[in-house]
Amino acid sequence: MVIVCLTDPFLPFKMHLVGILHGCGFAMQRDRITDDIYVFTSDFYAQVNAGVVLATEGVAVIDTLPFPEETREIVRLVKALAEGRPIYLILTHYHMDHTLGACLFPQAVVIAHALCRERLEAHGEHALQQARAQDPNFATLTLRLPDIVVEEGDLLLRLGNKTLQLFHAPGHSPDGLAVYVREDRILFTGDAMMPIPYVVDGDVDQAVATLQRIQDLSVETIVPGHGVPILRGEAPDVIQGHINYLNAIVREVRRHIQQKKPREALREIDVESCGIPRIALNGLAPQLHQRNLFALYQRLGGEASPPRKGRTAKTTARSSSKSA
Ligand SMILES: [Zn+2]
Repeated sequence: MVIVCLTDPFLPFKMHLVGILHGCGFAMQRDRITDDIYVFTSDFYAQVNAGVVLATEGVAVIDTLPFPEETREIVRLVKALAEGRPIYLILTHYHMDHTLGACLFPQAVVIAHALCRERLEAHGEHALQQARAQDPNFATLTLRLPDIVVEEGDLLLRLGNKTLQLFHAPGHSPDGLAVYVREDRILFTGDAMMPIPYVVDGDVDQAVATLQRIQDLSVETIVPGHGVPILRGEAPDVIQGHINYLNAIVREVRRHIQQKKPREALREIDVESCGIPRIALNGLAPQLHQRNLFALYQRLGGEASPPRKGRTAKTTARSSSKSA
């Protein structure tokens, strides 16, 4: 199944299996973090989050979760709460774990960054076909594209008693869009924040810049794209920890490249030595960390291809550097 990253089909499938193994039956978590703001956390897939903000002049849904069985529970709540008010569905980025259920909100106005719409137009149908082929749960889903796109600057969505500030938050992917509920000081980051920063489909400098922007906001609660909400008291340390992690992996990968070490040698850089616990995201952190390192290595000018079987790392590095 292609879920987390359209350019990276194998890891998401493994993550799906891990998600199933960790789940025990269907028990999606629903938290009411204020009187009128809800967070849904998938039991099936990598603790991915969706949110619902109930306002006097509309209901905003933030992301959809991938599995229809779980998304339909959100749809039921939204229908019960909306009472005729308009429904807005905000997509934080194009990855399927956040957007696959969009078609289950046919009455909603869908909002996303312009780059999200571009990517869904370019890759969404193919990703959906792959998902359908691998899991019958997705057979009835169709691709739903955003109606309104944010191209430059922030978008303010005023829904009576609540103001949602939508701002570009690239880094995990180029099209990231964060949602800040001003009155409650609650921030939905999409995957700009998750238990371990993940930049395989994105850009590490943009990820740091986005985290710095988040640092400047006054937040009561941060709802990350995956994992448990982060409360005001812990937010500064968590955000700084993520910036430190990104700086650490850049530093380590640069050092490896300068020393002309092969890509495989990156495996010796432990995730915890870069400041992220191995148990983060149901123990998936080491796997995601490894992929961050490999992606960075390639971007920063390391060898492009993995070493061939039966050759020593040293030999491979030498031969690869010739073809680079
Ligand atoms: Zn995600």
